[in-house]
Order: sequence, then structure tokens, then C-alpha cells
Amino acid sequence: MLDTNTDGVDQRVSTGELPSWERVDERVFEAYERNIADDRGHVADYIPELAAADPAQFGICIADVDGGIHMAGDAEVEFTIQSISKAFVYALVCNEFGHADVGRLVGVNNTGMSFNSVMAIELNDGHPMNPMVNAGAIATTALMPGETHAEKWENVRTGLSAFAGRQLAMDGDVYRSEAGTNTRNEAIAKLLKSYGRVTGDSTGIVDIYTRQCSLRVSAKDLAIMGATLADGGVNPVTKQRVVSPIVCRDTLAVLAASGMYERSGEWMFEIGLPGKSGVSGGIVTVAPGKGALGTFSPRLDSAGNSVRGQKATAFLSRSLGLNIFASDSEGERHDV
Ligand code: GLN
Repeated sequence: MLDTNTDGVDQRVSTGELPSWERVDERVFEAYERNIADDRGHVADYIPELAAADPAQFGICIADVDGGIHMAGDAEVEFTIQSISKAFVYALVCNEFGHADVGRLVGVNNTGMSFNSVMAIELNDGHPMNPMVNAGAIATTALMPGETHAEKWENVRTGLSAFAGRQLAMDGDVYRSEAGTNTRNEAIAKLLKSYGRVTGDSTGIVDIYTRQCSLRVSAKDLAIMGATLADGGVNPVTKQRVVSPIVCRDTLAVLAASGMYERSGEWMFEIGLPGKSGVSGGIVTVAPGKGALGTFSPRLDSAGNSVRGQKATAFLSRSLGLNIFASDSEGERHDV
């Protein structure tokens, strides 16, 4: 890791505000209308139960840091969180172990390869590289506090529920479907174990990881979970502190670098916000200090990212001024 000593520095935070309530509401609806007819992409089927998803479903939600909610379409339809869980389990583990240890153990650099790549592990001397690919996520779940697997799983479930502000439940059908076809993740965990990156029962750790991926959420839940990361770690609806502001900052930096797998560069170029996708069609995108977007649409592109979710998020990022890299001279307007 880079050695940047900022001890004793008076650290400041500066973000900005969302546009007015009415404008956000209008734009969420417009993002829905503009993209509802786009039927490109394919529903994931490598987990058999996911192939049964209704490809027509499309929901968008923005939660702001004051607890305001804006929704369009199927924003309250539940689906399994899948890889989006990686972001929140990572935040919980960082909250427990701190910036330096987690950074060293799991890493923060993009692999440039698909989320379930075995080659990426081999090419990096067994290092999982980042917590947003399966290898790094399994290594992160292994670090969750708890003496037993049951305790670790309970801590994952209650931790993610605190982000959502309600008790999340596991989808038993999706869990059993993935658990019965999970040889690749089991192989990844065994490979990590052979390099000493995971200790103990690797199959049990993959079981917790599979359970965490099977938690049911809606686009609204994702928005509130993301808004907790946008709000310095306090859930804007329940007002409960879930993680520290520093953990939010670190988690969002990791999402910016690797949240959309090997497409993270394109995502950053087009959307300019930290985001995390999952194979069931969800995306959470965070505008630090302002709020977060949750989208759900099951048809995916070839990297496993929801097609309509990406398009709706791009529209909202631009029309609501969310891109963290964008600046403007006062009074000027540009085509975006
Ligand atoms: N449970 C899925 C897996 O491990 C999650 C992958 C994803 O959403 N990209 O393969």
C-alpha cells in the first residue's frame, strides 16, 4: 500500500446538495420513462433460480441523506442482493479491523478480469486484489466477526439489515439453487486457502457468502443502504449509526475502482460515481453527501451489469449534477 502519512492533518469534507425535491422526483420518473422500452441484455442463468426472474421488471429509487425517498416503477419489488452485498460486508469488516489491515489483506486494486476469475488470483500470487470480485468478497466474509459460522452469518444479516433500516430475509430458493451449483466459488475459496489468504473451513465461508448474496432487497432498500454510505455511516431513515465516516469514504473509493468489475473505468467515465452491481440486476450508486440510487432491472450486459440500470443511473448522474468529477464556471452551460 502507498504510504501517505496524514496524521495530524485537519481533515475537511466538502460535497454539495441535491437539486430541489420536485426536480429529483421529476428526473427519477423521466429516467424510468426514457429506459422502460430498452430490452437489451440477458437475465443471468448460471444460478438456475435467477433465470426465472421477470425481465420486464424495472424500478428506480433515490434516497437522500435527509431520508427523502423518490421512486418509479418496481422500486419495491424484492430480488436477491447478490454481489451488491460485497460492498456492505466490506464496510462492516473495515469498521471492525480498520483501513490499513483490510487494505493489506484484501486489496483495493482492480483485477481487470471478470468477477469470478480464477486466473486473477493466480496472476497475483494468491492475492484476492479487491473485495468486489468473488475472491476478495469471500476473503472479506471470512473476516466478519463471530466465533462460529452461524455467528458470522448472523452478523452479516443484521449488519446489512442496519444499512437497509429493516430486517432483511434470505431467499431460500435462490440460496439452495446457488449452493447446489457453487463449485466455482468453492474452488476460489480453496485456492485462497492454499495461498494462506483464507483460514479455516473454506466451504463454510462460501456458504455464508452464498447466504449473504441471497438476501432479499428492493431498489428502495439499495437506495437507503447506499444513502447510509453517502451520509457518513448514519442511516438517513432510522438515524442509526452503522459504520464510521472513514469507513464510508474507504468503501466508496473501493467501489469507484472496482464496483463494476472490469467495466469500472467505463462506468466512472460515463457516470462519475461509486457504484456496485449484482447479477440479479440491481445497482447501487452513491453520491457522497447527497444520497444514493438503487435500480433494479434483470437484463445484464456481458460483464454482468444491468443494462437499464446503467442507463437510468447515467441519466440521473448527469441531470442531477451528481458526477463527482464535473465542475463548471459559473453561468456556463454545456451539452452533457
Ligand atoms: N452470488 C453470485 C456469485 O458469487 C454473485 C455474483 C454477482 O452478483 N456478480 O457468483
